[in-house]
Amino acid sequence: MRSSRLFRSVAAAALLALVAGCGSSGSRPTGAAAAAAPGATKSGSATAPDPSAAAASAGPNAPEGGPGAGLPESAAAGTGVPESVSAALAALPPDLRARIPRFPPAPAATRVALPGGDKAAFFSHIPTTQKVAFITIDDGWAKNPLALRLFQAANVPVTLFLEVDAIKDDPGYFTPLKAAGATIENHTITHATMTRLSYPGQKREICGGADRLAQLYGDRPTLFRPPGGAYNGTTLRAAHDCGMKAVFNWTQTTDHGKIFYQGTPKVVKPGDIILMHFRPRFVDDFLAVLEAIHKNGLTPARLEDYIP
Ligand SMILES: [Zn+2]
Repeated sequence: MRSSRLFRSVAAAALLALVAGCGSSGSRPTGAAAAAAPGATKSGSATAPDPSAAAASAGPNAPEGGPGAGLPESAAAGTGVPESVSAALAALPPDLRARIPRFPPAPAATRVALPGGDKAAFFSHIPTTQKVAFITIDDGWAKNPLALRLFQAANVPVTLFLEVDAIKDDPGYFTPLKAAGATIENHTITHATMTRLSYPGQKREICGGADRLAQLYGDRPTLFRPPGGAYNGTTLRAAHDCGMKAVFNWTQTTDHGKIFYQGTPKVVKPGDIILMHFRPRFVDDFLAVLEAIHKNGLTPARLEDYIP
């Protein structure tokens, strides 16, 4: 009986992970992921203790640094196509190169207001009318060798919510991604479901993840994405007490080269936060995200720039 319950819960977790994408490349030992269906709730109930609840949409976390932080120097400087971008484009296989859209520059960010108090803010969408969307990439299991060139060629800001267990076999993989303009934010140590943990347990995962990422990459994250999108009031308090300014879910998810929208029409709107993962089909997923943002007339912007 115990084993059948275990089986059911593992099967449910696997299914949810498949749908929501937080399960990564499959090597994760996680029990029941809480999370997320492609539709996701947006406004939310701050408590999503039920793993089957579709708490899906979430946003990326933002890395530290001011506007433009993390951009390659040549890109930050200027107009036209920076040399680093041309070189990265030239280094890509032609079929991929042809699929990299050109975006107008992101506008100067209008920062959101944070509520203050003893809890971190929560967003699954950034309230803005600016024509921007945010790319967030979670976990870190599948380390595709093309990611660096794709980031450089697309020359767009991305926020990586890294899970310590997912990156520890090769943390150095992410160092050049950061140098190419990605910001690194917090996604726990073990991908534990926050709503199943007490305050001290959540704090251990959130503070521990931030501390380890600071050791590895030099900057301590200030944004947090809860595994599977599952969070509650305790999560927001623990995140705050660990130095996180905001907690993010998302508005669209991506898998197998497809975007999963919330309802209809299937559009990316200003302020939307798109979730993808470091998965085996990273290239298809990243190109699909770029295309979705581009065809909706938006430009990728840096999530951190919108958080005061
Ligand atoms: Zn995750």
